[in-house]
Amino acid sequence: MKVLVTGGTGYIGSHTCVELIEAGHQPVVLDNLCNSNPESLRRVAQITGREVPFIEGDVCDEALLERVFAQNPDIACVIHFAGLKAVGESVAKPLEYYYNNLLSTMTLCRVMGRHGVKKIIFSSSATVYSGDNEMPLREDSKTGNCTNPYGWTKYMCEQILRDVAKADSEWSVVLLRYFNPVGAHQSGLIGEHPNGIPNNLMPFISQTAIGKREKLSIFGNDYDTPDGTGVRDYIHVVDLARGHVAAANYMMEHKGEAVFNLGTGRGYSVLDMVKAFEQANGVAIPYAIAPRRSGDLATCYADPTRSREVLGWEAQYDQVDMCRDTWNWQSKNPNGYDE
Ligand code: NAD
Ligand code: UDP
Repeated sequence: MKVLVTGGTGYIGSHTCVELIEAGHQPVVLDNLCNSNPESLRRVAQITGREVPFIEGDVCDEALLERVFAQNPDIACVIHFAGLKAVGESVAKPLEYYYNNLLSTMTLCRVMGRHGVKKIIFSSSATVYSGDNEMPLREDSKTGNCTNPYGWTKYMCEQILRDVAKADSEWSVVLLRYFNPVGAHQSGLIGEHPNGIPNNLMPFISQTAIGKREKLSIFGNDYDTPDGTGVRDYIHVVDLARGHVAAANYMMEHKGEAVFNLGTGRGYSVLDMVKAFEQANGVAIPYAIAPRRSGDLATCYADPTRSREVLGWEAQYDQVDMCRDTWNWQSKNPNGYDE
């Protein structure tokens, strides 16, 4: 089937294009390139042997979306990755985040509805869960009390999409709550290349390994966790991408709203990840303990039971795969897609 992939030149979107193609689907990408490089799609073509049609433009542009759906009447569903995602930047520039992430989602749904395409998968995040839940997090764990505007945009988009599905029973809305995506395609041709100083742990580790950063700062070693450092549920991006293919198949047979965690169900500490990366790749990661980062939880991991039982999806890759594939991409592409 033809799938419109917004944000498809980005990190998770490009990996999802590969998995869609491998599963026999036809992705069409719409992206404004505000945080990505179209080279990623040339690499997707190199991996799969299939060109991905690319439209450069903004999902908030209603007239453009009208043309995209008019010219592609066979679009069966939409995977909506497009969005701004930097937590710290969202605190500094809340209006940019609310504007972009909410308006893109609402504009997309309006145009989809007009063209009778009423199936959407939305990139949500574990950040929508309230900080006072017991672990592991289940889809019915408490949401809200987000600690930053980025998290609130995900929370609000979920609510908007749920209301859309409630108002019109023809809609199928799948909310996927990602835990911590890491790693890269095994080919080393596509991966994550954050702009500037990485906010997330794995890109920081790999940039330290390659010498771009002097040392990793570990944000706190006095949490109530086995070694005192924060624990997260890291998931290989290829597993995550396959979760979208499973969700797209599910949507073809189910209407209404559904929410799924995409995580492994296993938590690793910051020190676990540093050691695993060093061992898997034979490189050293210098680090120093720094103060806690504000807004961070001690521990966060998923209960992935529902995804396994309902979507038939389960993560296949382990911590060694995540570390090896991150380094394979980083060492082959020290400057991402820039050269
Ligand atoms: P990314 O920045 O690599 O990809 C997002 C893409 O969306 C980029 O290519 C960007 O250019 C595009 N984009 C942004 N606003 C747009 C707009 N208005 N119109 C058109 N294109 C636009 O990020 P990613 O890591 O691939 O994340 C994809 C989605 O998953 C995002 O919605 C993100 O919030 C969500 N998510 C990511 C993580 C993570 O850790 N990477 C975790 C949870 C959720
Ligand atoms: N972290 C760290 N140093 C960094 C980046 C992250 O110690 O430079 C820690 C962070 O405090 C958290 C874990 O690594 O415990 C994962 O952080 P990330 O930002 O990747 O994901 P999130 O906290 O959003 O789940």
